[in-house]
Amino acid sequence: MDNGSVGGLFRRAAEHAARFRDTISDRHQRPDVSYLGSLAVFREPVPEEGTSGGEVIDDLAVKAEPGLHAMTGSRFFGWVIGGSHPVGVAADWMTSAWGQNAGNHHATPAAAAAEAVAADWLLDLLDLPRASSVGFVTGATVANFVCLAAARGAVLRRVGWDVEAQGLFGAPPVTVLIGDDAHATVFSALQFLGLGHDRLVRIRTDAIGRISAPAFAEEAAKISGPSIVILQAGQINTGAFDDFAALIPVARRIGAWVHVDGAFGLWARATPEKRALAEAVDGADSWATDGHKWLQTPYDCGYAIVRDEEAHRRAMTIAASYLPPSFEGERDPSHFVPELSRRARGFATWAMIKHLGRQGIATMVERHCRVAGQMAERLSGEDGIAVLNDVVLNQFMVRFGEGRPGEQADRLTQQTIERLQADGVCFAGGATWHGRKVMRVSVISWLIDDEAGKMAADAIVAAWRAVRETAATGPESARPPS
Ligand SMILES: *Cc1c(COP(=O)(O)O)cnc(C)c1O
Repeated sequence: MDNGSVGGLFRRAAEHAARFRDTISDRHQRPDVSYLGSLAVFREPVPEEGTSGGEVIDDLAVKAEPGLHAMTGSRFFGWVIGGSHPVGVAADWMTSAWGQNAGNHHATPAAAAAEAVAADWLLDLLDLPRASSVGFVTGATVANFVCLAAARGAVLRRVGWDVEAQGLFGAPPVTVLIGDDAHATVFSALQFLGLGHDRLVRIRTDAIGRISAPAFAEEAAKISGPSIVILQAGQINTGAFDDFAALIPVARRIGAWVHVDGAFGLWARATPEKRALAEAVDGADSWATDGHKWLQTPYDCGYAIVRDEEAHRRAMTIAASYLPPSFEGERDPSHFVPELSRRARGFATWAMIKHLGRQGIATMVERHCRVAGQMAERLSGEDGIAVLNDVVLNQFMVRFGEGRPGEQADRLTQQTIERLQADGVCFAGGATWHGRKVMRVSVISWLIDDEAGKMAADAIVAAWRAVRETAATGPESARPPS
């Protein structure tokens, strides 16, 4: 490819991308084809000969688009995922085009510097200890992993064991306390670290997923030796926060390392209205959060934040003779993450914070919480719909056919979710909460405003009414009584 065609190729890709984003609100929310359908479109033998760059990009757009989910639009309420803001995407394109291997500050000064500044901004916005170190990782899953690796090393070091050098064989046991409603990926992180996902002390939680303080105190009292306590800011179904002010001092008394999974909930700290929910969370030792959720950066972007920089570095250290050494005040991105070569994630984070500003972030988070509250209110006003949690943040759970026997309500809830997804006006998914089937609604995409929330609530009510109608006249009620 000659140099003149690079610009043309990039513009072509940009046109495909812009068309996709511009038409997102006219699209059916679910992909038009299934995974198997997409597989059939992509499947072909290894190409023997090459194809021109332009044709490859056109072909990719044609093949991929029917299988894309409208996750970046204003009518997406599924899971808890951000909307890949265009400013972050544009910064990320340049990141790819610049092609910087962001492991080392000497090789790529701009990537390392933007990341260092973005790290300081994050600590300021989230109001966490300013001397903490920040690793830019792929998401909260890996952020949890990195923070817990630092935790494992630090608590074992205190009893004279060097886990980074000696591994876990023969090490004193580490007790891990975790709430019953912690995110599945925290259990994965513990699995990767040799701490096991079943070898844990699980603490009872309340109706909205918060760790029970008396149960926690009781378990904490039994512990002697190295321990790690895992708390949560923002439960994925309810948005609930553990009571940091009550729990952290108890954990401190037993000398535990306190880690907080705050993938999205930690951003409550960045708003005047919601800040109180995460009061005292800064008393922890480490925090995992995401850029690709509430900060709306494109994938993939998460942050591993650790109070004790030395523990963080020790856990992630990579020593190789060909890597230039780093000196006082020089920060290498690779010191704080498992990877050496990786994309320069700091650019997109820097761009999003620069674009939204402290006020823009606060306004967006508060708007999402307000919209979630309005939607929940509208839905609870409808016969047969129950909202199962107080909307403290941006997350809530809905159950359909409330008042009927549990199994029937489970079925009606499942049918309403399927109906909503088939209608395609907006998207929300399902979950099981404490044994009951629920619809989960998450308000976190930057495009969602009051109007989008109203439209979505109307669509959910319409789906429920259609299901209720069918249930009343359908084969089941026609069945003779047995
Ligand atoms: C999303 C989420 C995770 C996992 O984060 P990824 O970005 O998907 O890796 C972990 N914990 C909580 C509470 C989450 O919401």
